[in-house]
Amino acid sequence: MTRPPRISLEELAVVDGHCHPLFADARALSRDAFLDLLSEGRPGAMTAHVPHTGYYRRAIHGLARHLQCAPTVETILKQREALGPEAFARLFSEQKVAALLVDAGYPPGAMSLPEMRRLLSCRVYEVFRIETCAQALLSEGLPHAEFEEHFLRELRSAAQRCVALKTIIAYRSGLAIRSWVREDAARAYQAALSRVRAGGSPRLTEKPLLDSLLLSALDVARECALPVQFHTGLGDPDIDLLQANPLFLRPLLEDPAWAGVPFVLLHMAYPYTREAAFMTSVWPQVFLDLSLALPFLGPGAVLPLTEILSLAPSSKLLYGSDLGGLPELLALSAGWGRAALGEALGWLVERESLTADEARAVGDQILSKNAAALYHLPPLI
Ligand SMILES: [Zn+2]
Repeated sequence: MTRPPRISLEELAVVDGHCHPLFADARALSRDAFLDLLSEGRPGAMTAHVPHTGYYRRAIHGLARHLQCAPTVETILKQREALGPEAFARLFSEQKVAALLVDAGYPPGAMSLPEMRRLLSCRVYEVFRIETCAQALLSEGLPHAEFEEHFLRELRSAAQRCVALKTIIAYRSGLAIRSWVREDAARAYQAALSRVRAGGSPRLTEKPLLDSLLLSALDVARECALPVQFHTGLGDPDIDLLQANPLFLRPLLEDPAWAGVPFVLLHMAYPYTREAAFMTSVWPQVFLDLSLALPFLGPGAVLPLTEILSLAPSSKLLYGSDLGGLPELLALSAGWGRAALGEALGWLVERESLTADEARAVGDQILSKNAAALYHLPPLI
């Protein structure tokens, strides 16, 4: 089988439109903790199987090449410690990562954004997680109306410094979001409060409350002209994948109240990539981020990317990694993203769907230009 020509996107800058903070201190990283980074499984659950994945092999060989050492986890961990942070900053500039949009709401205890700005040779912008904010307010034990007011105050203040809001409601009560009467939301809030007061988990799962908070957040997003990133598709085993199908968002997308709020479907909505491509092609406010599926699938992402590029407007597709923890993984992901995208574009050029020049321009849109426009980022160069 002859390989279709790959469109070279090496010289183009990358905006990582969805990622997570770095470890506050990665110096004593164990082999198992490193392997956990390469799996969406629960901590420790997939340790025996991770070395048999494509993601692991690509990561190990990419890191060994960069660090000039043997491709084993132990050697890589030793070498990265010996070389220090300059090595990561170098990889960032080699991969031309110009900006990161960081969901600072997960994981807890990670490196702060100012520290990330000091360490990395790129811009770092904050994305504000809606449900983490609501959970943090539970401990104040406020009456429902005051809780709502406080929540809105927090969102409006975050909107001053953030480039987007993010929701993980898909993980909690699913994407079939609807409006509820106030009494239902208040009852759900009281149930959550009683659980926390009894020493239970602050993790919000009450659907009437979560749906109501999300609709309030959409109000703030409209007011402050902020896009909202929605977790869709795959994730860790907490996800009920059936409830993470972005097609559930149709009632919100058809409601004129939210027509001006950009909805960013995260993670290629994998495996709902065809649904997401369709949604991106008919609702002007829907955008599609390619994170998580891209680094995990690597060259396997060429297939869904080819389909997405065949249907969706290229002005609405955005590169992202969804990675965090170690900066070198974010940098490697940019290279894998360029390669998969370049190959999908090459396939389309070969079939005269677009010219080579148009393909490079599409690559530029997806890697950085669309994100810069959507999130109102200052000029990159
Ligand atoms: Zn994420």
